Amino acid sequence: MYPSAFAYQSAASFPEAVALLQELGSEAKVLAGGCSLIPLMKLRLAEPAQLVDLGRIPDAAYITESDGELRIGALTREAEIETASLVAERYPILADASSVIADPTVRNMGTIGGNLAHGDPANDHPAVMLALRASFVVLGPDGERVVPADDFFVDLFQTTLAPTEVLTAVRVPAPRPGSGAGYVKFERQVGDFAIAAAAAAVRLQDGRVAEASIALTNAGPTVIRAATAEASLAGRAPDEVAIHEAADAAIERIEPWADLRGGTAIKRRMTGVAVQRALRLAVRRASRGER
Ligand code: FAD
Repeated sequence: MYPSAFAYQSAASFPEAVALLQELGSEAKVLAGGCSLIPLMKLRLAEPAQLVDLGRIPDAAYITESDGELRIGALTREAEIETASLVAERYPILADASSVIADPTVRNMGTIGGNLAHGDPANDHPAVMLALRASFVVLGPDGERVVPADDFFVDLFQTTLAPTEVLTAVRVPAPRPGSGAGYVKFERQVGDFAIAAAAAAVRLQDGRVAEASIALTNAGPTVIRAATAEASLAGRAPDEVAIHEAADAAIERIEPWADLRGGTAIKRRMTGVAVQRALRLAVRRASRGER
């Protein structure tokens, strides 16, 4: 199906994009890589009368580390994250996620900003951002605000972004010594959304868990932080007993939707296994100093 008719404008900068969104009103929508928005428009599930394209904004795609944090420009493509040496060396969990998003065609177009702003609980980056305790830089008519990932995802396809705001960058705290993180996803076939997936990050001190964060993909209407599971690991050696107990705690209250990828019970069980594997990966990386 073809999308409804729409007008198109290209923004030369983020402030210009915000000004255009203000001027055009509620009929306008931001376009980045188009991987989620264009299919929705073709299905007529989204019918914006105006598109404001961010794709030509100079210097909006970058991956840098400074002042104790990683900064990723909102227009950075998944393929760039997947192959960046800085990511491989210091933040491999980001490549874990980028490399299992869709297929190379989508990864060459899809941006990290779009993946997060879309607010889809099936998308892979939101859980990684919760696990890494990232924050998002948002620009609107009143200036810039920085939103912790925990406060960004509100409900199904809903974030704290106002219609006149744009996500400009992602910030991830640099890993402290003894830290490691990993993302594990189960999919029906390469390129599909997750049946179940989990992100985990740990910091080990003297062989025990000093900090843990765990987040779940596609286990509810929005990405879920598994707070009880995190608490269950505190101060313990990250052995198999602790990992199994954390995974059990993580799935205790989740109710994943039954759909063509599986029923609620199997998805809950697979989420538990994803948590176990993500934790083992995080602990292995923390122990080897791989991050
Ligand atoms: P767009 O499609 O351009 O925009 C998506 C939404 O975000 C729109 O509402 C848009 O207005 C808004 N938006 C975009 N950028 C900004 C910004 N900077 N500020 C404010 N709002 C913004 N995703 C996964 O995570 N895992 C998968 O396995 C996966 N499989 C897929 C398979 C296929 C075949 C396809 C087509 C998509 C798949 N996706 C998957 C989804 C897709 O990869 C992401 O949602 C996509 O990359 C979004 O980024 P984009 O740049 O294309 O955003």
